Amino acid sequence: MKLLTRILAGATLAAALAFPALAQDKGTIGIAMPTQSSARWISDGHSMVEQFKAAGYGADLQYAEDDIPNQLAQIENMITKGVKALVIAAIDGTTLSNALENAHASGIPVIAYDRLIRDSANVDYYATFDNFQVGVLQAESLVKGLKERFPDVKPWNVELFGGSPDDNNAFFFYNGAMSVLQPLIDDGSIAIPSGQTGMDVVGTLRWDGAVAQARMDNLLSANYTDAHVNGVLSPYDGLSIGILSSLKGVGYGSADLPMPIVTGQDAEVPSVKSILAGEQYSTIFKDTRELAGVTVKMVDALLTGGTPEVTDTQTYDNGVKVVPSYLLKPVEVDKSNWEAILIDSGYYKKDQITN
Ligand code: BGC
Repeated sequence: MKLLTRILAGATLAAALAFPALAQDKGTIGIAMPTQSSARWISDGHSMVEQFKAAGYGADLQYAEDDIPNQLAQIENMITKGVKALVIAAIDGTTLSNALENAHASGIPVIAYDRLIRDSANVDYYATFDNFQVGVLQAESLVKGLKERFPDVKPWNVELFGGSPDDNNAFFFYNGAMSVLQPLIDDGSIAIPSGQTGMDVVGTLRWDGAVAQARMDNLLSANYTDAHVNGVLSPYDGLSIGILSSLKGVGYGSADLPMPIVTGQDAEVPSVKSILAGEQYSTIFKDTRELAGVTVKMVDALLTGGTPEVTDTQTYDNGVKVVPSYLLKPVEVDKSNWEAILIDSGYYKKDQITN
């Protein structure tokens, strides 16, 4: 046998030993994702379908376009069709209790994917990133950028944006960020001229970029006629795009009026391009291939009588139980490291960013 043929035969044998059934013999997994309007969820879905297939499962992948009743109907339909397990990235983490009760009654395990599902005992495991750390990294990057771009300004004028208040992650991102920013607000290094703080005030329903843009317009006209904004904490690239267009609309991004430091999350292509163009300052990369991998392993363990590996059994209390969780590490990406993190890892091809 030629070497390559032998290696391939060996690989096939190894795969067959790890997953003895033929592709899809192990049944179908229901995957409920929130929306295709953001590229990260599309990557999550694709990676999971691929990796479930490699592990011998079929996949029923559905997107609900941020419509809660639509997601509920998709999940109920998956239960009726007899999926072996459910993987759910919830739109609203509090609205799935009845459907999950049905899943439980049918013996279908449920994995909360990326976002915690709240108020239900029928969530078996949670696969996600360290969401508090995402906020810490966003705020640390904001402060690093402020020091670089506005070394002589004191205090720095900063405005805060939060994610969707129906997404448990949004609170972790905000709290993580405030763990870094609050001491600087307290010691006078940072001012919040609008006075708007707290998730109940700065949250952005459904992570909608247009809502963030409108709020930024209002913040600028109400608080910045005689002052300049130096930094904006944004928890997600889709919001950052709206915030940046509002800022550009009133002339920020010129020699006399430098662009404030604007953060983000998800390393979406338009935002990485914006970072290279000197507009958005940074983003947080969460490798969706790895999250898919953790989830597929969790499901396979549950369905083959094993115990899923977890890294955290304390943090994620969903209101009814603490859900055992696997937390992956988020990474800050800016102009200095985007190539090493996003291209060398094969997440993007270079021409997707530079074209
Ligand atoms: C995810 C983020 C994403 C946001 C908006 C959050 O739950 O963790 O990665 O930016 O939803 O889609």
